[in-house]
Amino acid sequence: MSAGSLGIRAENLTKKYGGKAAVDDLSFTAEPGVITGFLGPNGAGKSTTMRMLFGLTKPTSGTITIGGRNIADLDDPARTVGALLDARAVHPHRTASRHLLAFAQAAGLDRRRVDEVLDVVGLGDAADRRAGEFSLGMNQRLGIATALLGDPGVLVLDEPLNGLDPEGIRWIRTLMRDLAREGRTILFSSHLMSEMELTADNLVVVGQGRLIAEASLDEFVRANTTQAVLVRAQSPVQLAGALQDAGVSFSTQPDSSLLVTGADSAAVGKIAAADGVVLEELGPVRESLEDVFLRLTHDVTEFEGQAA
Ligand code: ADP
Repeated sequence: MSAGSLGIRAENLTKKYGGKAAVDDLSFTAEPGVITGFLGPNGAGKSTTMRMLFGLTKPTSGTITIGGRNIADLDDPARTVGALLDARAVHPHRTASRHLLAFAQAAGLDRRRVDEVLDVVGLGDAADRRAGEFSLGMNQRLGIATALLGDPGVLVLDEPLNGLDPEGIRWIRTLMRDLAREGRTILFSSHLMSEMELTADNLVVVGQGRLIAEASLDEFVRANTTQAVLVRAQSPVQLAGALQDAGVSFSTQPDSSLLVTGADSAAVGKIAAADGVVLEELGPVRESLEDVFLRLTHDVTEFEGQAA
């Protein structure tokens, strides 16, 4: 690996199409040695950001750099950064190994790498099959093999888990984790929080081209999910009265259980006991990360709607 310590940095990155911002004043960092998840709903500007990183789209303003340099200024781009931008961008009549060989030759890489990366992605047995016969999952593997050809220290993968079966998803997760552990910088995008939850160390969350949150997954969970207590009483009305008297905030759920946000389980149990309320259920609940993500990105959409 030639460039394990290089990070990716976007600074005030903006891309406008016909006056509308696809990426809007976006700043974030992807550090070496960790998996950075680039999360946002479809149309949030993730692919556009990645395309600007590779010089395929020119920013309207701002910069996105690798180790502080534009991709065009890197001494050896093929050994510095690898990309999976569109897994379907493969010539259908070419075999997997021909496809990789063409890439290796164009980038001045050792042709022995072709067999190595085919083995890494588990396509060793499919080396002589035409890419046109591949399933989406096999195409994703071939795309990742292409990204790994130059043994780069920086990997940028656009929706690598898209369309994969659970086994394929597990495989890419393990691969990304191993590559990050070797000190590489991994930036991968997804529109699904569930994919991030099990994979990313850090999150860069975008909506409508703008940064919504940049934090470690743990910080994001702590900052955005509220701890609440779900309590079911034999007499919900009596419990509501007791909580009200104690000055604890709560809301009544459609099934008559109460969702308490102002106290923990122990405190709710004490309040109920002091009032002789019989409880049928008492325990902590957390908003799911998928709900948090939808709420946060929905807020951005709402704001846009009002501003327009
Ligand atoms: P994501 O990858 O998060 O799904 P994209 O970066 O593909 O989002 O798209 C962001 C926005 O920019 C979308 O509204 C999309 O329609 C728009 N967009 C992307 N590329 C172009 C283009 N070449 N011309 C006009 N609009 C574009």
